[in-house]
Amino acid sequence: MRYYSTNLQAPWATLHEAVVKGLAPDKGLYMPESIKRLPYSFFEEIENLAFQDMAFEVSKAFFGEDVETNALKQIVYDTLSFETPVVEIEENIYTLELFHGPTLAFKDVGARFMARLLQYFIKQESHDQVNVLVATSGDTGSAVANGFLGVDGIHVYVLYPKGKVSRIQESQFTTLGQNITAIEVDGVFDDCQALVKQAFMDTELNNHMKLTSANSINVARFLPQAFYYFNAYAQLKKLRQLDSKELVVCVPSGNFGNITAGLFGQRMGLPVKRFIAANNANDIFYQYLQTGIYSPKPSKQTIANAMDVGAPSNFARITDLYKGDWTAIKDAVSGATYADTDIKRIMATCYRTNQYILDPHGACGYEALKTGLETNEVGVFLETAHPAKFKEKVDSILNTDIEIPRPLAEFMKGQKQSIPMSNSFEDFKTFLFNQ
Ligand SMILES: *Cc1c(COP(=O)(O)O)cnc(C)c1O
Repeated sequence: MRYYSTNLQAPWATLHEAVVKGLAPDKGLYMPESIKRLPYSFFEEIENLAFQDMAFEVSKAFFGEDVETNALKQIVYDTLSFETPVVEIEENIYTLELFHGPTLAFKDVGARFMARLLQYFIKQESHDQVNVLVATSGDTGSAVANGFLGVDGIHVYVLYPKGKVSRIQESQFTTLGQNITAIEVDGVFDDCQALVKQAFMDTELNNHMKLTSANSINVARFLPQAFYYFNAYAQLKKLRQLDSKELVVCVPSGNFGNITAGLFGQRMGLPVKRFIAANNANDIFYQYLQTGIYSPKPSKQTIANAMDVGAPSNFARITDLYKGDWTAIKDAVSGATYADTDIKRIMATCYRTNQYILDPHGACGYEALKTGLETNEVGVFLETAHPAKFKEKVDSILNTDIEIPRPLAEFMKGQKQSIPMSNSFEDFKTFLFNQ
């Protein structure tokens, strides 16, 4: 399969090139040349398939031409070593819980898949080691670090802003050791991102060592997120009769990678009637749906901080998918936006009426689905992270003392190891040269 750039100014790329490069040379996002439809028989029988087998079928449509069958199967099976259950919240409203992976957020799926696919490709090259640089404001670092942990031939450097990530988040990438190095930057998230970007542009450094990015725009992180939409449909088919009701899927969205993967699934034939994108106060996409004008803004800090994105990268993929047709995009996806005060109220109400603890991101999804659902529809919203990842906020809003799941508690027992770094590129470069 060939990949083109959404900016249409870069040469076609192979999957191998698209995965190693991440971003296209013209700064566009890679898109597969075609999206294959899966046969009707696949959807007829989907509820009888195990998650891994179902995902393997989906993965073949994207990667089957470029990755040897047994290797692809192994990558999919290793990636999905945990379940993504569908849970009923109230009549016709379900949640797809994506927080049962090692770092308790949906990003585990894409990060684990990408780590294994990158390893597959670099084994075919002569390089001794590939170095992944990733800047994080909290959640991406943990998913990427854990996704790559122990993967041979790859070393990961996680750059994070000193004192700006929660202790739980920090413990998920500073206690791992092995092939993971955490770098504590004296600065803010933007400084971390600037250091990484400068490193990719520095010729001397790139001649010295092979650098790559595990950014969420990478096709190997983005496309595997389609897997669990199929699983949601299969589980709903098992839980109830779907025939007379049409399925609506609601996705708490920030950079819009997750929902775009769902739209790809729909193109492959997955019977989803429509999608809802739930925003927090960073409502660039919501405003676009109202006005037809895409107007990125600096991000605002909210309690659903993984959705604090003022210029959603994957907007380029959505416009490409619908050939820039605003009306077509509005037909496929509707929007909603919630301020922090709304999010707190939603969490409290859902807890009181359903005894279900939403995290601040899932809360946006739940409310957008509940208020948007019509009588002939059944809906599922994505719970993108475990509430315990935001324990302090959740406890203060709900007046609870929620339990920290064992994997999180284990991280917190580990010894923090990190390298202090200034925000000057010269210091970072010297450090990398001495590795
Ligand atoms: C990353 C993230 C999101 C946003 O997902 P996008 O693919 O960027 O739209 C939502 N919730 C949580 C918990 C996240 O970590």
